[in-house]
Amino acid sequence: MATLRFKAWEDVLHRQPKHVTPPSDKISDFFGSMVFNDEAMRKYLSSPVFKAVKKATNTGSRIERDIADHVASAMKEWAMSKGATHYTHWFQPLTGATAEKHDAFFTPIEGGRAIEAFRGSMLTQQEPDASSFPNGGLRNTFEARGYTAWDPSSPAFIHSKTLVIPTIFLSYTGESLDNKMPLLKALTAVEKAAIPICQYFDRNVSKVTCTLGWEQEYFLVDKALYNARPDIMMTGRALFGHYPAKGQQLDDHYFGSIPERIVGFMRDFETQALELGIPVTTRHNEVAPNQFEVAPIFEECNLANDHNLLLMDLMEKVARQHDFRVLLHEKPFAGLNGSGKHNNWSLATDTGVNLLQPGHNPKSNLQFLTFFINTIKAIHDNADVLRASIASAGNDHRLGANEAPPAIISAFIGSQLSKTLDDLEKSISAGKMTPEAKTALKLNIGKIPEILLDNTDRNRTSPFAFTGNKFEFRAVGSTANCAVPMAVLNTIMAHQLIEFHKEVEASIKKGVKKDEAILKTLRNYIIASKKIRFEGNGYGDEWVKEAAKRGLNNVKDTPRALDFMVTKEAEKLYTEMGIFTKEELHARHEIALENYTMKLQIESRVTADMAISQIIPAAISYQSELLDNAMSLQDLLGPKAPCRTQLEMINSIGKLIDELSENAEKMRQERKKANALTDSKKKAVAYCDKVKPLMDAVRDKVDRLELIVDDELWPLPKLRELLFTR
Ligand code: ADP
Ligand code: MG
Repeated sequence: MATLRFKAWEDVLHRQPKHVTPPSDKISDFFGSMVFNDEAMRKYLSSPVFKAVKKATNTGSRIERDIADHVASAMKEWAMSKGATHYTHWFQPLTGATAEKHDAFFTPIEGGRAIEAFRGSMLTQQEPDASSFPNGGLRNTFEARGYTAWDPSSPAFIHSKTLVIPTIFLSYTGESLDNKMPLLKALTAVEKAAIPICQYFDRNVSKVTCTLGWEQEYFLVDKALYNARPDIMMTGRALFGHYPAKGQQLDDHYFGSIPERIVGFMRDFETQALELGIPVTTRHNEVAPNQFEVAPIFEECNLANDHNLLLMDLMEKVARQHDFRVLLHEKPFAGLNGSGKHNNWSLATDTGVNLLQPGHNPKSNLQFLTFFINTIKAIHDNADVLRASIASAGNDHRLGANEAPPAIISAFIGSQLSKTLDDLEKSISAGKMTPEAKTALKLNIGKIPEILLDNTDRNRTSPFAFTGNKFEFRAVGSTANCAVPMAVLNTIMAHQLIEFHKEVEASIKKGVKKDEAILKTLRNYIIASKKIRFEGNGYGDEWVKEAAKRGLNNVKDTPRALDFMVTKEAEKLYTEMGIFTKEELHARHEIALENYTMKLQIESRVTADMAISQIIPAAISYQSELLDNAMSLQDLLGPKAPCRTQLEMINSIGKLIDELSENAEKMRQERKKANALTDSKKKAVAYCDKVKPLMDAVRDKVDRLELIVDDELWPLPKLRELLFTR
């Protein structure tokens, strides 16, 4: 009987590339055609309404009811002209994915007739059935229902004949139940904190935005092979599978040529992404076979994040149409590279300045240094909350494995900037500075752009690296909602900038000149934040030892990393900055722990189910074959018959089967014990410390059997097969 694995192969071998022709050869002809952007708004809105909307989106002010009515009606008209029949409020519940509730424009009216209606109230607020979304006890505490509310700062778009409206999701009493609301709060906080500092250098700055450029890594596998792997279907990763003989040792996949079928998929989803206004540009192979990356040009952080979530969704949909499945998991295949989502982060002003870009004169460079050094200080003081922001069951497999950034947070800035900071530390004296010293310092600061030009050192092993004009937060996992780490990063930056402003103002009040006050404060920060700077190899064991000496934390698992979310200091940070109330913070902590436990629980169950119902039967079949063979040989040739190999294999298989089922049974017992725990932290730790090692033990036995059992009898597509594309 052919196994599912071989049936799948019949499909795979018949695959043909599918090419979809883009609407035009010129991208500018269709870029953003499905977005209710400025161009569409100008066409469908009267000039005063357009201005009111722009003002509201730029300043975050309220949109009045009658304006909302106008916008809704214009949106509907625009959407229907593009074939949309439904609308939906799109939101980001704490499950990590996005959710939507579709409603038709179509509304029955008297006399058995119908009209298409979409009023301002339907645009601005909806009440989805919130009961099925995680709330960490907030709903019970506050007896609140969940509401979605329009986020006018991210434009509506059309997807699958539906007008999609980006929204925040909150409880009746105002607690956030999603990932977007804290992000928006953090973005406002960082803007408010940054403006007065920008004004030290340029009075004209009145707006500061955070910019985010993410790089999304993913794997592609054939749909039929995916369907023959219950583990990948249910958990997003291969729970079994021996490391393929030809993996990534040769590194021949990186930037190699991409198979035609995959190019067909990429063109298709990129075209659709461009229509949705997502400025995707790059496409290349990653290190592991069948691993790829897509990255757009950076955008304002909230929009960039909505675009990332939309793109993840789009990729999955388009992949199916091309008979692929996308794996966004951080570590789909043990032994091969994992997937991350680098978050390139910076701050920009409405005067066109990137605050992390060195300028052309001492003044703009001092501004650069101010934001640069404040970032390092923020990371130094808050490394642990940043670590918590990237904690997830999937990312645990990646952080600290030797191709991803370690679980130790540190910042890389390159040898040139390290030298600049060292020089600054030396040349700024704590006491009064001589005019000569000031001139020398100015000269030094003026030289920064030159030295950065030949800055070729690009450390790839750092979790948080300065890359010339932005920081790249590399430890973010590929499935993550960037809103989570971005909310944290902008919060700690806002907090730091407020501190900085206070200190500089205090010096100025004491009669110190502004520039000198800034420089002296920066010098103190350089000295205070040294231990977070690391220029060496982040993958090496020496760093683990060195980091421990420096007192940097290296917390490798999610349940423990999440503790950093709810320390007294973290509570103070989030409440002071107005990002979370204490209740919201603890609710989130609870949900994150529950997510972790749920993921491991599912993985553990699937591991046992597959090991017992698929692997052991295959191993027994092969063992019986060997046994038949050995017995026949002995019948024929007597006890001296040459069947030593067969007997050894029969023995090995028997032993492995026994060990496998023993471990599976132990795992079941540990799961039972863990499930009986009522405290979510204890439960997550039990899954981490007790269940997970047994899952690894079961996997080890299965992977050993894979090497012995007849390939024809093996029920699961092997890793090397999953990574094959035709
Ligand atoms: P890589 O990290 O793969 O070498 P690049 O350094 O070219 O790639 O850039 C990576 C990403 O950084 C791109 O997605 C780009 O849009 C983004 N990026 C560039 N400048 C900024 C900025 N000022 N703010 C945020 N992201 C930026
Ligand atoms: Mg990168």
